[in-house]
Parts: sequence; structure tokens; C-alpha cells
Amino acid sequence: MDLSFADWQEAAAALCFRTKAYIDGQFTDAASGKTFATINPATGEEIAQIAECDAADVDRAVKAARAAFEDGRWSRMDPGGRRAVLLKLAELIRENLVELALLDSLDMGKPVTDAATVDVPGSAHFFQWYAEAIDKLYDEVAPTGKGDLALVRRVPLGVVGAVVPWNFPLDMATWKSAAALAAGNSVVLKPAEQSPLSALRLAELASEAGVPPGVFNVVPGFGTTAGKALGLHMDVDCLAFTGSTAVGKKFMEYSGQSNLKAVWPETGGKSPNIVFADCEDLETAADMAAFGIFFNGGQVCSANSRLYVERSIQDEFLALLKARAEAMAPGNPLDPATRLGAIVDEKQTQSIMARIAAARESARLVSGGERVTLAGKGCFVAPTVFGDVAQHDPIATEEVFGPVLAVIPFDTEEEVIAMANDSIYGLAASVWTDNLSRAMRVSDRLHVGTVSVNTVDALSAQTPFGGMKQSGFGRDLSLHSLDKYTALKTTWIKYKL
Ligand code: NAD
Repeated sequence: MDLSFADWQEAAAALCFRTKAYIDGQFTDAASGKTFATINPATGEEIAQIAECDAADVDRAVKAARAAFEDGRWSRMDPGGRRAVLLKLAELIRENLVELALLDSLDMGKPVTDAATVDVPGSAHFFQWYAEAIDKLYDEVAPTGKGDLALVRRVPLGVVGAVVPWNFPLDMATWKSAAALAAGNSVVLKPAEQSPLSALRLAELASEAGVPPGVFNVVPGFGTTAGKALGLHMDVDCLAFTGSTAVGKKFMEYSGQSNLKAVWPETGGKSPNIVFADCEDLETAADMAAFGIFFNGGQVCSANSRLYVERSIQDEFLALLKARAEAMAPGNPLDPATRLGAIVDEKQTQSIMARIAAARESARLVSGGERVTLAGKGCFVAPTVFGDVAQHDPIATEEVFGPVLAVIPFDTEEEVIAMANDSIYGLAASVWTDNLSRAMRVSDRLHVGTVSVNTVDALSAQTPFGGMKQSGFGRDLSLHSLDKYTALKTTWIKYKL
């Protein structure tokens, strides 16, 4: 991607936004006629007014999704047919990379370079991966007796509701919908109110690729109206959620209050990154520790926000980190040189700054700590590192969801395993050591969904992503994700001998 700052600005100025809900293959206003503003956090300016869907619109979308599912236009299409359509969608995402990258960058403040090199190619790749997988999956024949044939098949569930956050708008929409659509379901997606633009464009591209009307619907709106309506809907079969732990718990309640729909929560984290003194390449460990907490402004569920450093290398490692933090001043998200963009909105920025203010009282500020503006505007926070943090300090236990790192020293392997596991979360962890036995010993004992050894945030289409404990139990990515969107169905046939 070889666009200059001026090229990106020019492309941004030429954008045309999809602002209506996408229901039954058409863009449509909310039934109430209401709209809400989506704001660029780098400038504070309104980007567009978006249809504000509520229960009535969710109901319309679910009805369209159900009708499409029942008449089989997608659910009973040959897997090879679904593969071809979703491969086409992957191609269209690549063709529209600049536009999609800009939509996410403008909507939530991430560096456009990251959107163009990580988010958008990732979305295309995940659609392609599930497309390619779906006509290669075989079902089972159970070992019954003579005269009996028992087929055990995975069948689509029906209507899948997906409610996603704003930190990776296109990718979170993709993680849910690529697998759910590949499996033959209809989808009703509610993007986060802070970042609805790329999901609406994705729906249009899906139609262009050949996804039939009613199969992929997008209902922008607020959590307590549109999100809740989807969670409580009596005709939604499954609700895939990524977001905060508090809201994940609400979706479990909504299910109990309505139709016992399957709920798959993927929620918050406070991922430990453990650096042992026997890690030979501390420069790389520091590069990746900085990346692990500052990438996407720390607005990453698996952000490595607790750093445990063996005491003997603490001073050296903190110096390496400080240098990296200081080299990462926030910049204009449309400038290709920018590595740290804006925080998603004013509310999140204030929440981060309140946590920094509290931590200033209890820990040692090593770097950053300030709110920053660009040309007097925008939501930016300097990359922040706190040293000498106590294990139970809120900055070390609560999810900040910002570029704020808590560094805690440790003395022994046993001690750091206990400290790393001492959390309500269990999404991910990293371990840095050149001792293979130690890497395995420690990894085995960490209660998390993914352990990255000598790297951070290892993630691929081929491996499941999700957590333990209050990080939720849903799994995105890999073939395992298809389990969420399918039910096991037995068909038992008696035949004459
Ligand atoms: P959030 O929980 O506030 O919102 C997520 C989604 O839920 C949004 O679409 C929102 O509109 C909706 N929502 C909010 N309140 C609702 C309600 N009462 N009923 C129904 N829907 C409601 O989270 P966020 O602030 O957008 O995102 C940040 C959180 O997401 C962090 O906690 C982060 O760790 C988590 N996250 C987790 C993963 C993962 O895979 N585990 C990935 C990314 C983000």
C-alpha cells in the first residue's frame, strides 16, 4: 500500500457513506425515522447520520432472515455455491480495500495503515478461508447395527444474531458472519454504534457477490435498544457476541428471558505478558511488549496490559520499553507514518484518563500519562507505562482498553504463574523465555485461551480465538467456530434386511 498522507486525505474526502440499515437486500431507513451521528474521534467532527434501528427494525430484519432461511435460497444452496459467492466477496473486499480501510479509520480512529494492512486483508482472508473450507467438511455415520443407518450431520441453526464492538469493526463483523454464512445461516448483524460504516458497506458487497436478499442484514443502532432487541428476540437461534464482560452477561440473561438461544460471549481481557530473565532477545521482547499494548491504541481484547518482568532484568527492560513508548506519539490516523491513532470516542478517552489519574497515585509513572490533541482537537492518549505496580492495583486488574501498561516485577516461576492466573479474565497470555521446558511448563498452567510463546497475540484463521473464565467461552476462527453456528442432527433410517 503506497499511498501518501495527501492520497489518503483525498480518498477520504471523496468517500460516499452507506448510512441506512441493510434489511432484506435493501438499504432502508429505521422505521422510527431516527438517526444518530457517527463521529470521527481524530477530529470530533460528524461523519454521517446513521439509521437508528430499534426493536421494530430488528424484528423486520429477523423476519427477512427467517424467510430466507426457510425457503433455502442460501441455507440449502450447495456448499460449492456458497463457496463461490463467499470467494467473490473476499475478492470484492480486496478490490475495495482503500475505501474499507478509510471507513474504519475515520469511524474509530485507528491508523489507516493498520486498517489497510491488517484489518481489511484479514477480513478478505477470513471470508476466503471459510469459503474454501465449507465444501470440504464431511459428516458422520454412527456405528449402529444391521438394518439401521444413523447419519449425524451438522446443520445450520437458522437466524444468527451478531453483536460486535468497535475496536476492529470490519474484522469483528467478519469473524462472526463469515463462519455463520458459510455454514448456511442467515445473519442479522448489529455493529457498534461508534463504528457502523464498514459493516454497512460489507452488506452491500455481500449482495454484489451474490449473497441473496435477507441472508445478511445489518441493523445499526444502540446496544440497549437494537442490541437488546436482538438478544431478546424469540426467533433468533444463536447470538454471537464480542464486547465487554458486563454486556456478555446481559446476553446470557436475555437468552434465559426469551427463547434459550445459544449465546457465545467473547468478552474482555487483562492479558499477562511474562518476560523471564533467560529470554535472550530482550530487544525483540520489548518491541513486542510495546506492540502488544499500544497496537490499536490498546483497544484490543487480548492486549498484553499486564507485564510481568523478572526482577533481575526489570530496570533494563523498563528502559527499553520507555524508549519505545516515547517513540510512539499519537498522530493523524490518515498519515501513513502514524503508529498510534485516536481513541474511539470522548467517553472512552475520559475513562482511560480517569484510570491513569488513579494509577498516578499508586504506581510509578514511567512514560506518557497525558491526553494529547492534534491541532487542538481529537481523542488521543500518549502511550503510558506504569512501573512498580502492585498485583491488586486496579490498573493491574481492570481492563483499561487503552494504551496503558502495568509493569509488575516477579522473582520465581511459581510466583508469576500464580500472579498471571490471579484474574477474572483468561483470554490470552505471552511467555518470553529461551528455555523450552519452562515455556511449556508455564504455558500448560496458564488458564487462558491462547498462550503466545516468544511472540504476542498469535492469531490465525486456522486456530481458535477465545477465552476462559470471564473472558467468555465463545471461539472465533478455525473450523471450531463452525460448531457455534451449526447443530448436530441425527437422521435414523431403518431398512429391511
Ligand atoms: P460493549 O460491550 O460496550 O459493546 C459491544 C456491543 O454490544 C456493541 O455493539 C454495543 O452496542 C452492544 N451493547 C452494549 N450494551 C448492550 C446491551 N445492554 N444490550 C445489548 N447490546 C449491548 O463493548 P465495547 O466497549 O464496544 O468493546 C470493548 C469490549 O469488547 C472490551 O471489553 C473488549 O475486551 C471486548 N472485546 C472482546 C473481544 C474478544 O474476542 N474476546 C474482541 C474485541 C473486543
